[in-house]
Amino acid sequence: PLNKSELGNQTWGFLHTMAAYFPDKPSTDDQRDMAQFLRLFSKFYPCPTCARDFTKLIEKEPPRTSSQTELKHWLCWAHNQVNKKLGKPKFDCSKLDERWKYGWKD
Ligand code: FAD
Repeated sequence: PLNKSELGNQTWGFLHTMAAYFPDKPSTDDQRDMAQFLRLFSKFYPCPTCARDFTKLIEKEPPRTSSQTELKHWLCWAHNQVNKKLGKPKFDCSKLDERWKYGWKD
């Protein structure tokens, strides 16, 4: 089985990649469905304390799904909230596309 850290790492990879390919101009249905997906995903996330806290975070600060940019930055912010809770460094959200879409330029 995946431990909490592996599960988290792989889940963030999926979520950020999904956000990186969300439409630039999502339909009303897309916007509603993505917000709903994130709510339902957090309800069933298989780490009870993570799920509890992330559900609360979504209630307080609902996912922003009006465009790809909005969604990516909301998710980056949400991940940074979890990073803060765990004492991990804050990620620089201006580096999102390098990290999750196009790869690092070196
Ligand atoms: P991760 O945090 O998994 O990040 C993976 C990679 O994403 C990093 O290497 C970095 O390149 C990139 N990254 C980092 N921050 C950002 C950002 N803000 N935006 C974009 N990319 C970024 N663990 C707990 O112990 N307690 C919890 O309550 C908890 N809640 C969680 C809730 C959710 C919804 C998820 C998906 C995971 C949660 N986790 C929790 C797991 C935790 O967030 C980490 O995934 C885990 O500790 C492994 O950390 P990591 O160092 O591999 O990096």
